[in-house]
Amino acid sequence: MAQEFQNYIGGQWLDAQSGERLEWHDPATGELLHTFPRSGKADVDAAVAAAREAFETSDWRLSPEKRITALKKFAARLREREGELRTMLIRESGKLFPVARSEVTTSVESAEHYAGLINWVYGRANEPSPESISILLREPLGVVGQITPWNLPLALFTRPLAPGLAAGCAVVAKPAEQGSGVAALVAQIISEIEEIPAGIFNLVTGLGEEAGDALARHEDVDMINFTGGTDTGRLIMQAAATNLKKVALELGGKSPNIIFADADFERAVKNALNAAAFWNAGQVCTAGSRLLVEASAHDQLVDRLRTMVPALKIGPTTERVAVGPVISQEQLDRVLSYVELGKQEAQLVAGGGGRLTEGPLGKGFFVEPTVFDRVNPNSRLAQEEIFGPVLSVIPFADIEEAVKIANNTRYGLVAAVWTNDINKALMVAKKVRAGTVWINTFGKLFHSMEFGGMKQSGLGRHYGLEGLLEFTELKHIHIQLSGE
Ligand code: NAD
Repeated sequence: MAQEFQNYIGGQWLDAQSGERLEWHDPATGELLHTFPRSGKADVDAAVAAAREAFETSDWRLSPEKRITALKKFAARLREREGELRTMLIRESGKLFPVARSEVTTSVESAEHYAGLINWVYGRANEPSPESISILLREPLGVVGQITPWNLPLALFTRPLAPGLAAGCAVVAKPAEQGSGVAALVAQIISEIEEIPAGIFNLVTGLGEEAGDALARHEDVDMINFTGGTDTGRLIMQAAATNLKKVALELGGKSPNIIFADADFERAVKNALNAAAFWNAGQVCTAGSRLLVEASAHDQLVDRLRTMVPALKIGPTTERVAVGPVISQEQLDRVLSYVELGKQEAQLVAGGGGRLTEGPLGKGFFVEPTVFDRVNPNSRLAQEEIFGPVLSVIPFADIEEAVKIANNTRYGLVAAVWTNDINKALMVAKKVRAGTVWINTFGKLFHSMEFGGMKQSGLGRHYGLEGLLEFTELKHIHIQLSGE
């Protein structure tokens, strides 16, 4: 029996005003899992009105102690319901068990981290003239609309939510249509936390071009915090121009993973596959989808990939596997179109067989992990975000060429460099335009360390203190003590 989810607006569970619903099917089996409201402008208007009312009239923004208690409870209840959240992630998004577990863990940690930082949001005082004092206050921004993607539907839903609530904002959340079930579970958890006043958190499910656009365009929303594709980010920015609301964007990537010949070769290659290219079936903004290798190590690397990639176990999360299904038919078609393109543009090293059709895997969206070699750095394969298990190998001659190729995209989200020469590593790290650069590792993120993109990978930062300050605004209060 398919579950039926609802919107959560002003403390009430509601259907879309139109009565319309959307369906979601398990990507590993095709089975109908649940339905959820197809919200439109009227539902978004109601949610924003509830958020504004709660922000202006409740004591939420003025009570740091209450917010600390609320966020600690949020973390504890996410942990208590870990099994339920994990099962939803596995069924709704085809997640492998470790990925689902890490999404819950990171959400718990995010709420705990920002509960601990709430008392660190403060301004400063100054004496700008002999007979006056100025106070600079940091206030919550107001009503925040958050729009999030499907690839890590829990972790990326709680990533802006925890600091937004911690800062004292009211939130209207529009999750990805493919991740609406897990978002509804989060809404249930929040609805049971008595310290969070009705209207401070609101959930509105639906399509991006309908509910998402209405939220981004809304004249009474103070900030849009968006995570998703770069082209959608551009639309969000245009829609946000209606009332010049603040925009924070976490967008796509085509990240370089650079291996020098003097690196710890085995560790670098294992990471290149498991952490960088094929983690979450390649559906991650930080995917190291361009593997840059120093020419003298190129043949050795390609030989290893030729044996390691076909040995990766593919399957649903019920088994010990390395690569799960992609999210949907649409995503499968997209990945396969790039595999076909790769066969024309570059040399196939491994995979390339397309959708798996044998046995039980035939029911899901399973695709063979695929590696192409000698990919032209200017080709579509090297320039466009595929968001699937497709890796492009690109050889380089020296540091200058590695940096040039690394920077030769519109993106600048993350990069990694593998070498045992620290000078070389730091030289590359300084020259690569990316928000995060890893040395001799890949994919390590910390709640205490800022994350975000350069160039067309984004605007603003999540995580760390900066990730909390994003949800605040500065106010200068000037006091004249005597005279003029
Ligand atoms: P998407 O841009 O298609 O959708 C993201 C969200 O935006 C969804 O909730 C969707 O409903 C909504 N949306 C779509 N069109 C909209 C519109 N016109 N107006 C308002 N909202 C709209 O992205 P996706 O396919 O869900 O996710 C994949 C993309 O997200 C990839 O490009 C990936 O790199 C990026 N991403 C970035 C990060 C990061 O932290 N930088 C993290 C995860 C994913």
